[in-house]
Parts: sequence; C-alpha cells; structure tokens
Amino acid sequence: MSARRVVVAGASGSIGRQALDVCRRERSRLRVVGLTVGRRWEELGDALREWRPAALAVAEPEDAARLRVEVERAAPGCRVLTGPDAAEALLSELDFDVCVNGIVGAAGLGVSLATLERGARLALANKESLVVGGPLVRAALARGGELVPVDSEHSAAFQCLQAGGAAQATRLVLTASGGALRDHPDWKRATPREVLAHPVWAMGPRITVDSALLLNKGFELIEAHWLFDLPWSRLEVWIHPQALIHALVEFHDGSLVAQAAVPDMRLPIQLALSWPERWSRAVEPPTAADLGRLSFAPVEPGRYPALELARRAGEAGGTAPAVLNAADEVAVGAFLEGGLALGDLPGVLERVLDAHQPQGVEGRAQLVEVDRWARAEARRCLQRV
Ligand code: MG
Repeated sequence: MSARRVVVAGASGSIGRQALDVCRRERSRLRVVGLTVGRRWEELGDALREWRPAALAVAEPEDAARLRVEVERAAPGCRVLTGPDAAEALLSELDFDVCVNGIVGAAGLGVSLATLERGARLALANKESLVVGGPLVRAALARGGELVPVDSEHSAAFQCLQAGGAAQATRLVLTASGGALRDHPDWKRATPREVLAHPVWAMGPRITVDSALLLNKGFELIEAHWLFDLPWSRLEVWIHPQALIHALVEFHDGSLVAQAAVPDMRLPIQLALSWPERWSRAVEPPTAADLGRLSFAPVEPGRYPALELARRAGEAGGTAPAVLNAADEVAVGAFLEGGLALGDLPGVLERVLDAHQPQGVEGRAQLVEVDRWARAEARRCLQRV
C-alpha cells in the first residue's frame, strides 16, 4: 500500500505537533505533503526539512519575503501560500488523502469544508467546525468525503458505535474529569491561577477555563449531536475523574460499550489516520490496577450552569451555539484578565443567549456576522456585571 498523503492544518499547535510525531513514527504509512499554520512558521523548520512538503500555507506571515527564502532553503520547491485563505487554497490544489484539522478557532471551519469538498478524510480536532458550523459540515459530508473525529471523547464514541449503529443507541455518554474545580469549596470565586491547573490535560487557557465550567463538555455534546446524528434526549455527561473511559454508548438491548485509554492525544490522532486499521501501540493500554481505581458520578443538577446553557443552545440549534461560542471567548478573556468573577461568567453567556433569536445556519458570512454580534453583546453585558 502506498503511504497516505497527509496535510497537517494548524501544524505549530498542540494537535499539529502531535500529528507530526505520529507521522514520523509511521513513516512507511504516512507522508506529510502539506502544512498550514497561522503565524508561527519558524517552529516548522524541522518538519519542513524532514518531509519537504509540496506546499505550506501561512495565514499571517510577518515577513513574507523572508518566509519564502527560508522555506526554499529548508524544503526546496515547496510552494508557499499566504493570507487568510491560504490554507483553503492549499487544500483545493494539493493531492492528499487526509487532513488533520488541528486549527484552534473559527478559522478551522473553512479547512474542514475544503477537505470534505475534495472528497478526502477529515481528521477533525477543531471544535468550532461542528459547534459553529455543524449544519454546514453535515451538508458537505452528504456530498462527499469522510469524517473521523480526533477529540478523545468523540474518538471513543466513534469506536463504541462500531459495536452497533447510532440508530440502535439509546444513550451516548461523554465523560468529564470535572476540571480543576471539581473539589473546590467555592468555584464561583476561583481565581484564574486555580482554574488553569487542570488535573489531566495540558491545554490552552480558554479550553481549560471552559473545562472547569464543563462548558467544554457542553460544546462536545453539540459536536456529538452533529457527528453521530443523535437527538439531545440521548446525549449525557458523567463525571469520571480518572479520565480513562472517554465515552460510553448504551444500546437498546441493554448493552453498554465503553472505550478506555490513557489520556494521550496521539492515540486518537493515530486512529484517525490509520482507520479502519489499527497500527501498533500509540500508547500503553490501561492495566487492571488502573481500571480498578475508576469512579463515575452523574452531573449534580445546578452545579454546572454553563453545561446547561450549552445544552440549551444545542437544542435551540441554528446560530445559537455560534453565539454561545463567541460570547464565551469574550467572557473567558475578561475572567483571565481579572475583570469578571467565574461565578458571573455563566450569567453573561445566558444574557447574550437570551438576546439572540436563533436563525438557521446558511453560510459562513452569516456565521461571521453572528459571531461579531455576540462578541459585542457580551462586551455590553460585561459592562453591566
Ligand atoms: Mg475532549
């Protein structure tokens, strides 16, 4: 079998770097043919020399002339594209089999759609693609391409659903470690420093704050709704502090199928590249002793208001999740700068959602407009807190 041709989008980020690690370890099966970054192309030096990709896209090069000179030195013949649409242009002209979308933020949606439009596999780690653009991604998938999720919970659910289709699933459970504030005596007064000390995953600041509020899990429910076409009544969250079981699917015969793995993103990244095959150990499997320590609990009602808001936005559908996502980015920024108490953050999101009349998602221009409105509305609400 010839090597799968891989594009790594968001190559300088956490998922991108781990995807490059997986490709390096599986050199006979994977070949990196394209890379995209937002700004930090200097960090790609080794990957450029190692893979000599056919093309590199840089959204915001500070010095485009120097970029071209240095890329030519590291990877002679590599085509350099620049500008906000460079990643999408790269995907439209390059021959590739899989794109790992590790872009952080709304720019990831364009990459997801461009990948599916080429009929390629989308190894999806970008949350906004489904949270904000779920209906657009579903429509693109109906025309072609393939989606294999990379987030640990969705990769787990995807694997559990091989045991029986979504139509036979009565419940899909995503697990949450409970974040840094699970045992905090008064989470509403937690400081940014306390929130940023996540017990399991090392992640960016916004997602770590979202995890402490279980809002990240709420966004993951929205993603699961679009990924697996499951109604909201069948989507649930359980608290599971050890983060070894990532998702469980209950089927209508009473069987409950779970996926367990140590929390290490290289496993779901590798699986999204190897599927339907499984390649040799990406990580060490959990032991009997590991599994013997597991505990689970339902989410205490009222304890995580932001999770409930995500469910409300997901059930409302249309542009509501995009509004929640944009408002949250503003509110988390205010919290990290010391301008908003954590306990007041869900209230800000709720007021923005209350002020929004959801519309059906029609296209990216509309989503950009909704995003802008929600950010402005969130800033207005912040002034009144
Ligand atoms: Mg996750």
